[in-house]
Amino acid sequence: MGRNHARTLGRLGLNTIRDMLYYFPRRYDDYSRMKSINRLNYGDQVTVIGTVQSCKLRPTKSGKSLVEVIVGDGSAAIRVNWFNNPHMVKRLREGVQVSLSGKVEQYLGRLVFNNPNLEFLEQQQLSANRIWPNYPSKTDISQKWLRKLMEDAILAWAPRVRDPLPESILQQANLMDLPAALQQVHVPDSWEDLKAAQHRLAFDEIFYLQLGVLGQKRTWQERQGRIFTVEDEWLDGQVERLPYTLTGAQQRTLKDLRHDLASGRPMNRLIQGDVGSGKTVVAALGIAIIVQHGAQAALMAPTSILAEQHYMNLLKLLCGQAQTVLQSVDVPSALQQGEGQELTRQESESPLTEQQSIQPPPLQSEQVRLMVGATPEAEKQEIRAGLADGSIKLVVGTHALIEEPVIFKDLQLAIVDEQHRFGVEQRAALRSKGDNPHLLVMTATPIPRSLALTVYGDLDLTVMDEMPPGREAVDTYVLLPRERERAYTHIQSQVEQGRQAFIIYPLVEESENSEAKAAVEEHSLLQETVFPHLRVGLLHGRLRPEEKDEVMRRFRDGEIQILVSTTVIEVGVDVPNASVMLVEGANRFGLAQLHQLRGRVGRGVDKSTCILIPDSPDSAENERLQVMTATNDGFVLAERDLEQRGPGEFLGTRQSGFAELQMANLSDVRLIEKARSQAQTLFDQYPELDKAELQPLLAEVKHFWGEGQGDIS
Ligand code: ADP
Ligand code: MG
Repeated sequence: MGRNHARTLGRLGLNTIRDMLYYFPRRYDDYSRMKSINRLNYGDQVTVIGTVQSCKLRPTKSGKSLVEVIVGDGSAAIRVNWFNNPHMVKRLREGVQVSLSGKVEQYLGRLVFNNPNLEFLEQQQLSANRIWPNYPSKTDISQKWLRKLMEDAILAWAPRVRDPLPESILQQANLMDLPAALQQVHVPDSWEDLKAAQHRLAFDEIFYLQLGVLGQKRTWQERQGRIFTVEDEWLDGQVERLPYTLTGAQQRTLKDLRHDLASGRPMNRLIQGDVGSGKTVVAALGIAIIVQHGAQAALMAPTSILAEQHYMNLLKLLCGQAQTVLQSVDVPSALQQGEGQELTRQESESPLTEQQSIQPPPLQSEQVRLMVGATPEAEKQEIRAGLADGSIKLVVGTHALIEEPVIFKDLQLAIVDEQHRFGVEQRAALRSKGDNPHLLVMTATPIPRSLALTVYGDLDLTVMDEMPPGREAVDTYVLLPRERERAYTHIQSQVEQGRQAFIIYPLVEESENSEAKAAVEEHSLLQETVFPHLRVGLLHGRLRPEEKDEVMRRFRDGEIQILVSTTVIEVGVDVPNASVMLVEGANRFGLAQLHQLRGRVGRGVDKSTCILIPDSPDSAENERLQVMTATNDGFVLAERDLEQRGPGEFLGTRQSGFAELQMANLSDVRLIEKARSQAQTLFDQYPELDKAELQPLLAEVKHFWGEGQGDIS
């Protein structure tokens, strides 16, 4: 291959034969099955082929250029516009054959293409009745050239690839062999072969992902974890101290934690529980067990307002704070479960205490500290000293915990809240602050079980599928844009009754700038014309972290009555007084995300409402939103999302291993299940993949995970 060719390929990231084999087409054109122009409908995403009938260049009003082309195919003709691309005129001469792919739009009642994908056709291509690959490329690299080069490389090399999967797995999982799959994915003989090829390649990805994750889990489990055991009586006493009875799910989760902590291996557990299911208190009991033995714990949250919230809660739960306030309370009557819940907590030293089983609080308040970015340097220093000498037993904080040079005397429990907000590296960084500490991660992101087992396969999973009693479901309505006034009226009346409201705007465009702009504009509109007499606050992603915290704080303290926000408020903030949420552009959100947003209301005793307003009265979209009115179950909504939109909704790309998934569609639960069970079976037999026959497979797994990559969990 010539040097120039090599350089051009290099620009596409194609440096080796392997790179080329795994450079998959982004789509395929089947020229035998295309739509003729007279059958096009508005909104179609299609490819048509035809001949250029005329081509004009004209200026637009705004001084830009418009290339206006008429393409006909014998059945009809369609107008095609290219904006700001004047040189197209030279290429689109009359009589030239082109293929256009794009979305059919409408202009003045007629169908048009705007800036479609354009390809110049050769006669041979049209007549050859086959499926053509279309590769991701760059504007100045011709598809035709790339196709030819790829095809030559594939036909020469794919047959020589050695299939790393054992024959037995190919048989059991009914998979195409790898050489055939690589060839068919580039040069398909039929749609059927193409599908089988894609299936095989997707299987490989999940399979390697899973083997890596299982290996990781095994490595982790080979390590020693300190054993923390506690007496039933002590633990019961701690539970007794709580202001409420644990739900069944909380009890089960606590049992899991207790088991892990006593197992002699480092805990590596994910607690997955819907917003409001009460994960914090279980974490608090885990902390209690650790500190009971004199060791330290750390909890990391994604924002400082959340960290602060946890800090306050943990102080209450672990230090029995707020008793001073309670001293005047008639304790015996307040002790009855179920009523005046906040007041039933009581102090063990209190002379009024009669229940022997109630234990003293596991921590003193000075042993618990909060460390966030805004913590003054002097205080940080003091906290660092306290952690180093062991006088501080629990630190709650943000990234600051891993960014600062914090050294723990004896960190034995690392807790990560809202884990999807953190990268894998950050999880590892916190853990590395101790010597194989126990790790607990918590998430409210409801991932269907099959997916969770794959994605978080290195973690043991506990699902908290039960809400504390007395939680009222949030009433949800879908309103049409023209009914917006009703939403405003409802907000107005709620605020007049002393409640607070959220108004959420979607991320309108890619850039944070325009997102901020939309929110800023809406905010001033709402403040000035809709709610002139109310205090309307604004929160968006362009604010500095301190500014965000300040706004949240003012909202929490009731200074702001209506908070206009982008989705930055999504994560776990607790403002029980907020009873209405209005989501604009609701159709742009995944259901799981709407559910997360909705979880911001309905946290107090009042009946709460969530109003969803889509951008347009489009019925198909609104039907999807109707599911929100029917269920408050995050898992149901997540399953729905997975079916409809794929897993991008709740999995960031940050989870290691995901960036590698090119072919696998994580919504294909059957495929995932198949690959997962095959991986498990193989792993159970050869956990190290150390059989001679498995060497190529081992190499693939390593390749998938990136050679030399260290700790992935
Ligand atoms: P999440 O799982 O979303 O982190 P939290 O731990 O913040 O939920 O708990 C949500 C709310 O429910 C808190 O106000 C907490 O005090 C309350 N709560 C937790 N467990 C119970 C329970 N068993 N009974 C009653 N209220 C509870
Ligand atoms: Mg939480």
